[in-house]
Amino acid sequence: MLQTAEKHNVTATDLAFQRCINPQCGATYETHSVRTSCDRCGDLLDIAYDWDRAGVPDSLSYFEQMWSQRTNPVRFSGVWRFHELLPFASQNELVTVGEGQTLLQQANEVAKYVGLNEGQLHLQYEGMNPSGSFKDNGMCAAVTHAKMMNAKRAACASTGNTSASLALYCSATQAMKAVIFIGSGKISYGKLSQALDYGALTIQIAGDFDDAMIRVRQVAQELGIYLVNSVNPFRLEGQKTVMYRVLEALRWEVPDWIVVPGGNLGNSSAFGKAFHELKQHGLIDRIPRLAVINAGGADTLYELVERRGVRWNGGNVNMEPIVSYNDHMDREGIRADTIASAIEINRPVNLKKCLRALEWMDGVVRQTDDQEILDAKAKIGAGGFGCEPASAASVAGARLLRREGVIAPSDKVVCILTGHELKDPTATVAYHTTDQELFNKTLGSRGVTKASHANRAVAVPNDLDDIIKAIQLYS
Ligand SMILES: *Cc1c(COP(=O)(O)O)cnc(C)c1O
Ligand SMILES: [Zn+2]
Repeated sequence: MLQTAEKHNVTATDLAFQRCINPQCGATYETHSVRTSCDRCGDLLDIAYDWDRAGVPDSLSYFEQMWSQRTNPVRFSGVWRFHELLPFASQNELVTVGEGQTLLQQANEVAKYVGLNEGQLHLQYEGMNPSGSFKDNGMCAAVTHAKMMNAKRAACASTGNTSASLALYCSATQAMKAVIFIGSGKISYGKLSQALDYGALTIQIAGDFDDAMIRVRQVAQELGIYLVNSVNPFRLEGQKTVMYRVLEALRWEVPDWIVVPGGNLGNSSAFGKAFHELKQHGLIDRIPRLAVINAGGADTLYELVERRGVRWNGGNVNMEPIVSYNDHMDREGIRADTIASAIEINRPVNLKKCLRALEWMDGVVRQTDDQEILDAKAKIGAGGFGCEPASAASVAGARLLRREGVIAPSDKVVCILTGHELKDPTATVAYHTTDQELFNKTLGSRGVTKASHANRAVAVPNDLDDIIKAIQLYS
């Protein structure tokens, strides 16, 4: 390791460094450099630490003292109160806008729907973040690093939430200018409105997310703009803390399952790293299982893992099925298509890291169609705080795994609700509407045929008696 380290200019005094995820390569790079892949082999990078010198708390309950330090913005942050577990920057460099004040809620009505025993389903509401999605957990870490690098501009391609988050951090901190790339016609108004309102330079390209992702990498390279997509390894460090907060809310008890929607696979990758490290530190004695849920219309991970048997395999990933599936998508012109726009991605950039997380967490992958996603979403709304369509894939997926018997009724299950209810009101209103035209236009085109859990508005004449009758009839 040291030999490699010297070659790549990591000094022995660095507590943190970047490291290629490919164990056959293992190249390391200093924290104070901007890269999204390994110079030597092109693989993804991790942030790694010299834990012996950084020092790790003896027990997770160490972090409880942070609750009494909430007047310090850094310790108020649901990300940076776990700074000791992602120590790549010093305390005075950390950027925060108060992210991570999220909630783990026991949801018994939703548990019934999923088929779990009472008390066994927990929903982790990441929609409560400042920009309304879990992306803020990673963005505060990425922007912290961007600032360390004196970046003047930061860019991302986005299905909506990454751009909303970046735009918010840039406007709230005035640290740099946000440049966001979106596909045309794909982004929900809730998300687009945030980017516009927060003053981000918004580049709408004729194409979808996968196209925008390719372009933003080229532009970032060309103009030296700091890239904050989840190929950014610092961002994923921040996203580890979603798992720390889940454990915190469960009084440091490890659940049986973590269920998360899969898009670009940053979350699942970060969750795997979080638990792998906690286990290595001896801070937990077992690792929960992971279920990553694709939308049926964007199911590359499912196809590769469950149908074509692709595995991390200790870092020896068999690339042949991946390359041939990508070629197949190119040849057939297959494009991601789902109402769950946040996971409408067919070429997940963190694929390999996710494969590694699946190995570390004994994970499974499933896909659910838009009908199941929207039905689950209506159940989540009626039994809790609600979420956007992509988030509901986690509950739909848990229900499927319960039916298959992979998840037992007595298992303790945590579903991650990744984004806020109000991110995509069009999808919600279209599901509950009595306007058949709106339903068909928004959902029917995606194979959604019925809204079994719809809560329809009741139309009444403007007449007191009729209004009273309607309330008595329907409640
Ligand atoms: C970004 C996003 C996802 C996908 O997460 P990945 O880490 O890219 O897999 C899911 N849900 C919502 C609401 C998102 O914003
Ligand atoms: Zn490498």
